[in-house]
Amino acid sequence: MPQWTPSQRELDDLDLISLGAVPVTGFTHPEGEHGLPGLTLTVPTAVAEEAVTAGTLDLLDPEGVPLARLAVAGTYPVDGPEGADAAGPAPSLGQVGLVGPLSALTSTVYGPFRRLVAGPQESAGRVAVPVEAPLSESDIAGIRAASDAGRPLLLVLIGAGYPRGVSAPALVRATLAAAADIPGAEVVAVPLARRRPDGSAADADERLLAAVAAAYAESTHHPSYQGELPVAVAAVVEQNRPPRECRGLVVFFTGLSGSGKSTIARALYDTVLERGDRTVTSLDGDVVRHHLSKGLGFSREDRETNIRRIGWVGAEISRHGGMAICSPIAPFDATRQEVRTMARDAGGGFVLVHVATPLEECERRDRKGLYARARAGEIPDFTGISSPYEAPADADAVVDTTGRTVADCLDEVLAVLIAEGWLTRV
Ligand code: ADP
Repeated sequence: MPQWTPSQRELDDLDLISLGAVPVTGFTHPEGEHGLPGLTLTVPTAVAEEAVTAGTLDLLDPEGVPLARLAVAGTYPVDGPEGADAAGPAPSLGQVGLVGPLSALTSTVYGPFRRLVAGPQESAGRVAVPVEAPLSESDIAGIRAASDAGRPLLLVLIGAGYPRGVSAPALVRATLAAAADIPGAEVVAVPLARRRPDGSAADADERLLAAVAAAYAESTHHPSYQGELPVAVAAVVEQNRPPRECRGLVVFFTGLSGSGKSTIARALYDTVLERGDRTVTSLDGDVVRHHLSKGLGFSREDRETNIRRIGWVGAEISRHGGMAICSPIAPFDATRQEVRTMARDAGGGFVLVHVATPLEECERRDRKGLYARARAGEIPDFTGISSPYEAPADADAVVDTTGRTVADCLDEVLAVLIAEGWLTRV
């Protein structure tokens, strides 16, 4: 039996379908069915071929537990970012969309607040209140007023891309705290996910949300998330998203080989240790390659894998309030975005420092003799020589080290960390 572990967005869609929260029985074409936007599933071509031959594809959760079986009723080509959607990076070329009804193999029984996840029951006499951020005092007053039209059903949107400002479990806690002040209110967690994490499919998201709300209740009331938070809600937010100076973060240096990433990263690491007000871990390129990524080579694929591993560990460090300092070349924007997303999903910050020393200067330094070897054709895919470097458009700091001292460059980075609130001024 062919098997596949879908993305989080796709798993959320699967959950939504299984709960009966949408009027479809399986994954659809991107244009959707019954007025809904597409609930799509994309897989690598090889997996699609196996699935078509077998007629089915078993969908597994990230732990490998089979959740549902897709009966393959059709396929469609995915030709780039517009072809489908995904939580995370745009699907790469060579992916195939699969369409067909789902039958449950096991139901999800774990996950924080799973007991509050439920499909639509009797919708008569109910007002749906979709909740994607902590409710304010005025939201609560608005919901109390709206309960003339029916009993409020607070639908906490816990799927990928929805909770704003707090984690999904914290959004549930905040909503339970708010509901205590709304007579008759009931709280249900709904695994609705955004089509695209950056909100660029807002229209489809809105249509899907309207359909889901309509499945749960007769009418819908939208909070505005404006104004003061009740004390109990504010306490949940404060605990989940402490001020930046005590929240975890990933400081990510990117730039050409020899640009000065490791040198500045090392100086930053030492400074943070000297300050003593934060825990800090260095995930420097060479160190990582001796431990975390031992055995990986320097092919494009291996280098990307190395960065994803660094990003994953960095995000976990940020989850626990620490600072992770990374300094891989990271030439591709898409991979840097993935790491940014990993840190954000872990509740941590992400500060991107582009060490923008020009190629000529890096090559002049040629600290490790790599440029000479790359010019001689001895190193294939060498960033800056035979492989591109995509300069970031989203850097928090851009540091050209040419003709400057390390201390001067470090000061520039520290100034940004202080200005953005990640370090206090000492
Ligand atoms: P990368 O980690 O980007 O490959 P390294 O930090 O290993 O680069 O090497 C950068 C080289 O440039 C080192 O030899 C360092 O001494 C030198 N250098 C000169 N000026 C600076 C500066 N202002 N900041 C950082 N490195 C500098």
